[in-house]
Amino acid sequence: MTYHAVIVGAGVAGCTLARLLAEKGQTVLLLEQRPHIAGQAYDEKDEHGILVHRYGPHLFHTDNRRTVEFLSRFTGWHPYEHHVMALIQGRLVPVPFNFDSLESLFPTDEALRLEELLTRAYGEEARISIWELLSAEEEKLRELGGYIYENLFYHYTAKQWGREPGVLSPDVLSRVPVVVGRDGRYFTDPFQAMPDEGYTPLFTRMTTHAGISLEKKTSWKERLSFSQGKISLDRKPYTGAVCFTAPLDELFDFCYGELPYRSLSFTFSHCHRDRFQPVCTVNYPNEEAYTRITEFKHCTGQEAPGTTVAYEYPRPCSLSKGDIPYYPVPGEESAGLYEKYAALARSYKGLFPVGRLAEYKYYNMAQAMDAAFAIAEKITMS
Ligand code: UDP
Repeated sequence: MTYHAVIVGAGVAGCTLARLLAEKGQTVLLLEQRPHIAGQAYDEKDEHGILVHRYGPHLFHTDNRRTVEFLSRFTGWHPYEHHVMALIQGRLVPVPFNFDSLESLFPTDEALRLEELLTRAYGEEARISIWELLSAEEEKLRELGGYIYENLFYHYTAKQWGREPGVLSPDVLSRVPVVVGRDGRYFTDPFQAMPDEGYTPLFTRMTTHAGISLEKKTSWKERLSFSQGKISLDRKPYTGAVCFTAPLDELFDFCYGELPYRSLSFTFSHCHRDRFQPVCTVNYPNEEAYTRITEFKHCTGQEAPGTTVAYEYPRPCSLSKGDIPYYPVPGEESAGLYEKYAALARSYKGLFPVGRLAEYKYYNMAQAMDAAFAIAEKITMS
């Protein structure tokens, strides 16, 4: 059997690419080392019948209509706007930090004065980064920035990344803005919803196509090899496309050293009551060992007795020791090293790194799909 394309990894990017290429008439071999597809978006019912995300909360949001149209062929939707709170000084306050957070934590007159200063400096409903606030012209605003940095960002970030925030790309903390107003939504994309039966059925339907041969529990290492600019499939020279969604340093046997990734572990806990917490995710930015607790029923909309939550614990990641990579670690430390691997990848004609791990980009799900769209176009045009 010859394949037009081999895709390594049946996660968000890999499944999307497989379907796009198959619909263009290509035969696709989709290799997945785990026993399941959907990558980190994998969800399933736990032993209590509650739909849980085994690798942590995945909230779908995008401003790309084409992505929504594509996905809507494989799923219906449950409308859901993500809301997050954080435990700060014993109080649960909205995140992104907004006027409601301010009023929960500061005496009313001081909160109102700060709101006026914020509005004058940035305009109503502005979403500014913590970095902007820390370098505000007005001293009172810089002090507020310092307070939010210390209570919401610094310790959470140190736990999450195992590093000082200053060594990370500033974009990491900018993902979570400070809101000059009362908008409590975590994301502002026009489309925010959850697949009505979950992600696993969605990606199962997506990869069910006559042109796609899916092989689970199969590491790419069993089938592919890369040497001196040449690719082999099952020990024979292979000249089709290889879309690689696993870490690039692993592909090249860590020849320049390991790229930094961060991993997570989860503890699931079931409670015999309807709700555990007021919103889907509560962040714990301070002394707790976990960073957040997610209660899945809030986002899935599932009606069932009891509820299941996941405590999320960040941990170091060493691929050579078999840890599961969740996040690239954006920053100067990794950028130069990644570029060396990317240059090596470019020396293989037909090799396309794609997705969060292989492109080493902090993509959300929709961005990973958009990257897959772009690569599919490149492959089918060439
Ligand atoms: N962050 C933080 N405190 C929070 C939420 C986020 O310090 O309460 C920082 C932290 O460094 C985190 C980053 O902002 O890694 C991005 O947050 P996001 O919620 O986007 O992380 P993800 O859901 O991708 O893990």
